Amino acid sequence: MKWNRVEREFEYYKALFGMNNMDVRIVRPKDFKDITGFALGSAHGKADRKKRVITVKRNRTFLQIRKTIVHELAHLLFPTKPHWWIECFAYRIIPVKNKYGEVGRYTERYDHSPRDIPSKKKCIELAKKAAKRLKL
Ligand SMILES: [Zn+2]
Repeated sequence: MKWNRVEREFEYYKALFGMNNMDVRIVRPKDFKDITGFALGSAHGKADRKKRVITVKRNRTFLQIRKTIVHELAHLLFPTKPHWWIECFAYRIIPVKNKYGEVGRYTERYDHSPRDIPSKKKCIELAKKAAKRLKL
């Protein structure tokens, strides 16, 4: 996927979650490492709460990229939630199955499913509240 397309997807989900803060950005993996000191490694994406920046790998399928963007935004919005909850949140917003089934390895490891967290509508409401509270 072209990088400007990735950025468009990022802007779409930022707006959906009521994240109006211009400081919240998506950057290419190389720039993410320069800004945060953390390399992406084998991960699809990464988020840094202090710097309010996320990154994703763009050589993935369209759905994977979208889901990773939502997942990384959820890390910024819900800093105290366990990782399985973040995975389920992304699944609620974009219900796509992967090799781990409905969600991801953390969800499987801790024996949870998207049914353990609120509906898509409610998840979006929670995101908007969190964006306001955290000024994201
Ligand atoms: Zn994560």
